[in-house]
Amino acid sequence: MTTVAIDRANATMEAAVFHGGERITIERVRIPDVSAGEVLVRVSRTALCGSDFKLWHKGAEFTAGHEIFGLVEQPGHSMHGRRCVVYIPLHCDRCAACRRGDTQMCLEVSSLIGWNRPGGYADYLPVPENCLLPVPDDIEDSLAPLLLDTIGTSAHAVRFVSRVVPPKDAGPVLVTGAGPVGLGVILALKDAGFDDIHVSEPNARRLAIATAFGAKPHPVGDTSRRFALILECSGSHAARNLGIEVVLPRGALVLVGENAAPWTIEEGKVFRRKDFYMIRTFYFPIGDLEANTALLRRYKDEYRVLVDGEFGLQELPQGFARFAAGELIKPVLAPERR
Ligand SMILES: [Zn+2]
Ligand SMILES: [Zn+2]
Repeated sequence: MTTVAIDRANATMEAAVFHGGERITIERVRIPDVSAGEVLVRVSRTALCGSDFKLWHKGAEFTAGHEIFGLVEQPGHSMHGRRCVVYIPLHCDRCAACRRGDTQMCLEVSSLIGWNRPGGYADYLPVPENCLLPVPDDIEDSLAPLLLDTIGTSAHAVRFVSRVVPPKDAGPVLVTGAGPVGLGVILALKDAGFDDIHVSEPNARRLAIATAFGAKPHPVGDTSRRFALILECSGSHAARNLGIEVVLPRGALVLVGENAAPWTIEEGKVFRRKDFYMIRTFYFPIGDLEANTALLRRYKDEYRVLVDGEFGLQELPQGFARFAAGELIKPVLAPERR
């Protein structure tokens, strides 16, 4: 590997600027400062994510992009040259949550890389040392970012809810929404031993992939069947309300999908007269990396289907628009492509 020593004071790079109003431009900017306890990472792949639509519409204060894989470029550092994915929640490693392993909900710091500080739609970004997750050499570059949201978030949701609805007691399980996280949830459910998985998804191509992964199609909005476990991965309010309605007594509705708009729960009979778990899970504990890497190895062919586009920075504005239009499932930005 050749490394170029970077004169940090003057060095520039290319980065995507999200202006809002669906406008992205690629600009030459200064490489962000690397503080004590951080290293510079050269981005190899950053996966596009639906949660960035918010920034695409409204604009971003910092460089967006939060599903990042790259190489540490910090000569003299013990991690120099290592292939790593970037764990986005900053965490202190000392508070009660961190000591329990729940680094994604640190009680002391709450910044997210790609949201509250520079992210990965750029050539470089600074990363705190404790957010570097080494990636084994048998995991190819374009699949590595899936270890974060697609596998990490979905496998954590499945592990978390398995404590209240174990696979052997679950019966049929419903997944609403078959975007990258919903498809990840289907594979994680399968891997955990849930063997009767149903999926509702309006997009025909996504539904076809979900059924190829072993899930049975379930009509969107159908209330004729009830489930002990529902994983809501679309973020749609209608799907959440449907989940409240069709979850069986003692069952669990897991809110994995996100939605920036306020959600009102109508406290009628359906909601009030039932014991059920309504669970929110967020991202994943840093210690899950090894289990998630094993999951990626077991279902490599399936995960590979999700990465259906790759482009350089100059193509990001068009690529992002195609992604937002639903044409692509989990495309990746590869800044090294010029
Ligand atoms: Zn994401
Ligand atoms: Zn902490």
